[in-house]
This record gives sequence, C-alpha cells and structure tokens, in this order.
Amino acid sequence: MSIKGSFKAECPSCKERFDADFWTVIRGDRDLQLKEALISGELDLLMCPACSNIFPCEETLIYMDPVKELLAFVMPAAYLAEKEKWLEKMRLDYEALKPSLVKENFLAFEPLYYFGAGMLSDLLLSDRDREEETEVMEFMAGEQGFKSAAIRPGFAREHDLPFSLPYAGCPCRDHALEAARAVSSANDALARIKNLIKLLEELKTQDLPFIKS
Ligand SMILES: [Zn+2]
Repeated sequence: MSIKGSFKAECPSCKERFDADFWTVIRGDRDLQLKEALISGELDLLMCPACSNIFPCEETLIYMDPVKELLAFVMPAAYLAEKEKWLEKMRLDYEALKPSLVKENFLAFEPLYYFGAGMLSDLLLSDRDREEETEVMEFMAGEQGFKSAAIRPGFAREHDLPFSLPYAGCPCRDHALEAARAVSSANDALARIKNLIKLLEELKTQDLPFIKS
C-alpha cells in the first residue's frame, strides 16, 4: 500500500506556509494512478490555499515495485548540493527498512538512489518502452510457435534486453538463440532482441541463470 505524510510547504509566490500531503511510499505495482502521476511529473504539484498558485514541491519518496525489481529512494533534486550526506542517510534508512523488506523478495536486488523524481520517471519511461517491445516480440514469437520465458527485470535493464526471451522446447541457450534469431529476422525493428542474441552467443553455458523461475 502507498503511504502519505504531511509536511510544511511554502508558496513561492505569496509565502503562505501550509500543511501539505505528500506521497512518501509508492507501490508502483499496485497504485497505477500514482505511477502515472510520477511519470507525467504531476505528483509533486501543490496548490497554495491562499493564492491558488500551483508549484512543484518535492519530499523524499520511496518507490517500490517488487515485480519489476525496483526499490528507489528518491530525494529532492535540491539535495544534490549535499549529495554524500543524503546518500549516507538513505543507506542508513535502507538498512533500517531491511527487516520489513524480507517478504516480497526486495532484498534480492540493489536499491537505487535518485535525486529528483525526473530520474525515476526516466527509468519508468524506459521500462514502458521495453515492455512495449517485449509485447511485440512475444506476439511474434507466439506466431512462430515459440514460448516466452521472463527475464529478471534488473538483468534486462542492465543489459538492455527485452523483459522476456523466446524459446522452443525448453528455455536453454541454444533453443533461446534459435528462437531469438527467427523472431529478429522477421522484424528488424526490435533493437533489444539483437542485444539478447549477442548475449546468448557469448554465453558459455546452456543454463540461463537470468530467467525468472
Ligand atoms: Zn500562495
């Protein structure tokens, strides 16, 4: 569940100080509207109760999406002036949070530390692009009689791969490579499947440790 907190905000126009609600924890896998607001940059907009001025105002936010292997500490962009101090604080916050993160597999991937919601929305936009390319790829793979296996999202981002790979029979290196080549030759516009082919070609084992079990 996403969580709200109340903080003091000051209107840059009339200097009115007022209590404002901010999202302090966002569950990207559950609150799709909040995820959309984050991507569009509307999340941090406040309206002054005195003069109706609308202005951006950032507070620290934790973004969580265990399905996509995302745990991001997003600090206001202004904190970048004291980067090391805030990074240290966020790392301590992360250590304190760890016991509550054991459940949904959060500890299986590294947290991200961002300054400004823009860095997170860039990542979410690039994920969306990857999702769209993956959907096209899976559709084409299905047309050619292949199945698809999910790739761990963190690994897919790191190597700029689709979120899944096609295969025939069982998901091993040779079967995945054969299917990926077939799908790629049917649609030259899929850039990330070329990265997948290259990665599979260089893989020394038949085992694919980066697919989701
Ligand atoms: Zn105002």
